[in-house]
Amino acid sequence: MRLFAATLATETNTFSPLPTSLDAYRESVFLRPGEHPTDAPRMCTAPLFVARRRAAAENFTLIEGSCFAASPAGKTSRQAYEFMRDEILAELKAALPLDGVLFGLHGAMVAHGYDDVEGDILERTRAIVGQDCVIGVELDPHCHMTLKRVRLSDVIICYKEFPHTDVVERAEELLDIVLRTIRREVEPVMSLYDCRQVSSYPTTLPVMRAFVDRIKRMEDRDRVLSISIVHCFPYADVPELSSRVLVVTNGDKAAADALARQLGEELVSMRGKTTPDYLDVAAAIAAATEFNDAPVVMADPADNAGGGAPSDNTEILRHLIERNVDNVALGPIWDPIAVRLCHDAGEGANLPLRFGGKTAPASGMPIDAEVLVAALARDCWQSFGPTRVPLGDCAAIRVGGVEVVLISNRTQALGLELFTNLGIDPRAKKLVVVKSTNHFMGAFGPIARKVIYVESGGPLDRNYARIPYTRVTRPIWPLDRDTTPGLIY
Ligand SMILES: [Zn+2]
Repeated sequence: MRLFAATLATETNTFSPLPTSLDAYRESVFLRPGEHPTDAPRMCTAPLFVARRRAAAENFTLIEGSCFAASPAGKTSRQAYEFMRDEILAELKAALPLDGVLFGLHGAMVAHGYDDVEGDILERTRAIVGQDCVIGVELDPHCHMTLKRVRLSDVIICYKEFPHTDVVERAEELLDIVLRTIRREVEPVMSLYDCRQVSSYPTTLPVMRAFVDRIKRMEDRDRVLSISIVHCFPYADVPELSSRVLVVTNGDKAAADALARQLGEELVSMRGKTTPDYLDVAAAIAAATEFNDAPVVMADPADNAGGGAPSDNTEILRHLIERNVDNVALGPIWDPIAVRLCHDAGEGANLPLRFGGKTAPASGMPIDAEVLVAALARDCWQSFGPTRVPLGDCAAIRVGGVEVVLISNRTQALGLELFTNLGIDPRAKKLVVVKSTNHFMGAFGPIARKVIYVESGGPLDRNYARIPYTRVTRPIWPLDRDTTPGLIY
């Protein structure tokens, strides 16, 4: 038995001012066959990682393809996408004959000239491997589950958790189903329900927690093979943007249809109940300072690099400085130039520094302040579950009562090491401000006495009705009140 695995992944915010070139992949994940690390999967590479670990025991040969992944930002250039795609497809051809293909994709990648990158990859892959080869795909739930992808694959599985703590677990399931399909023990059939809505679904909040726990109990490995709640990625102006439910059963299309419809209708009934309350900046700071225990963790989802934002908006920081709020840690602010200046000044230096507020109008104005360079570090990192996320060179600066972590590699707040690697103990702070939508909850949730979500002036508007879509298929909630959800596959 021969399986091939590869990855091409990023989450494209088509409104982002930051284009994505091949260099963005080189900075993040750019691994050719033979270069894959054995300690832990990198962004979206879990299918390859899991298949390698199980190949001997499950009696198959794994042919490792290239893995490319970039931090979320704007569209990938056409040249960069076609270069990476064609490299993977050439490896795929060279690996023939194949019984199975495993793709670790993100699912919300858009390139210039390609709205549905993953659909394009699957179409070309199917043409190469033929109808009998089993194609299994793992996607981030913040994806566009297009009809094309469902038609062209045998099985697709999304992570269930947001924060995405189950990437490896879902890759194990994907490999199980692909192997059992090749051995003719199961016959996956898929059904897709379109909820015609755009929303956010953190599974750390009660409504989605209960829903996901219930769905997991429905998966019995025998009749119901997999259920995926497709959250959608709201910051992409593509026709098939929408929350959807994908059900995979064992050979029973009618049962898949019925379950997809039932769960899809439930997700429609949850409109407006799955997101946290967002406070404005002044109210959030008041709520944090009045709270009697510590630390309070305040999230800035509107400037989440994980959604393609620059992560250099200064609005919350400016309010904190103006109000003389003390004992605060804030990060990350992406500003490689300011990091360079701090490294040039040296640890312990005081200097007038301009930082943040650089990339675009939604970054706000830069902060100009007399700062203390509190700590410096080269090639820093933070953890995200089992993976390590590079931060590049970093600097911790103190401005008033706020310690700010400046980073060179743009990413969101994921692990406590964002602060601790620069000598800042977030547990000892009154307030910890993190730029992230909900992934921060994996590490910061357990130390938080209270969590506050803020609607800052950052580029990722939490009110989806205000996003200037022009190409999304309408009607869709909350842009339109009357919608027509239903089974589409
Ligand atoms: Zn995601």
